[in-house]
Amino acid sequence: MSSTTEQTFIAIKPDGVQRGLIAPIISRFENRGFKLVAINLVMPSKDHLETHYADLKSKPFFPGLVKYMSSGPICAMVWEGRDAVKTGRTLLGATNPLASAPGTIRGDYALDVGRNVCHGSDSVENAKKEIKLWFPNGTTAWNSVQHNWVFEE
Ligand code: GDP
Ligand code: MG
Repeated sequence: MSSTTEQTFIAIKPDGVQRGLIAPIISRFENRGFKLVAINLVMPSKDHLETHYADLKSKPFFPGLVKYMSSGPICAMVWEGRDAVKTGRTLLGATNPLASAPGTIRGDYALDVGRNVCHGSDSVENAKKEIKLWFPNGTTAWNSVQHNWVFEE
C-alpha cells in the first residue's frame, strides 16, 4: 500500500438494505476507484452495536440508534484506496441528510438523521478500530487489474 492508501469501514444500515440500496451504494465506491476488501451481511448483537457507537453512549438518541441498527441486516464492508476514510465521508455526505449535498449517498437517498442509510468511519484511527470489530478475521488482499488505470503511480 502506498502512503495514502487507507482502508475505511462502510456499512449499509438496515434502512439502506431494506430499501434495495446495497447495489447503488457499492457502485459509488467501485465507480470511484475503491477496492472492496471485505463484505458481510450481518445482524450484530446489541452489545456489538453499543461498542461500535460507544462514543455516542451519552447522547439522547443512543437507545433509538441502537434499536435502528438492530432492526435488520447490515451490509458491512471494508473499502481500500487513496484517502479512503476522508473520501468515503465525502461520498456519504453530512450526518443529517437535510444538510447533505445532492450527489452524496445521504443527499440522494435520505431525509432523516435517524434513517441515513449508510455509515462511514470518520478517522483513520476509528476505521482501524471498526474494521477490527466487524472483521475480526481480517480482510482479503488482492490486486485489482484496474489499479494502473485509476492511479498514475
Ligand atoms: P456519522 O458519523 O455521520 O454517522 O454521525 P455520528 O457518528 O455523529 O452519529 C452516528 C449516527 O447516529 C448517525 O449516522 C445517525 O444515524 C445517528 N444520529 C446522529 N445524530 C443524531 C440525532 O441528532 N438524532 C438521531 N435520531 N440520530 C442521530
Ligand atoms: Mg460517526
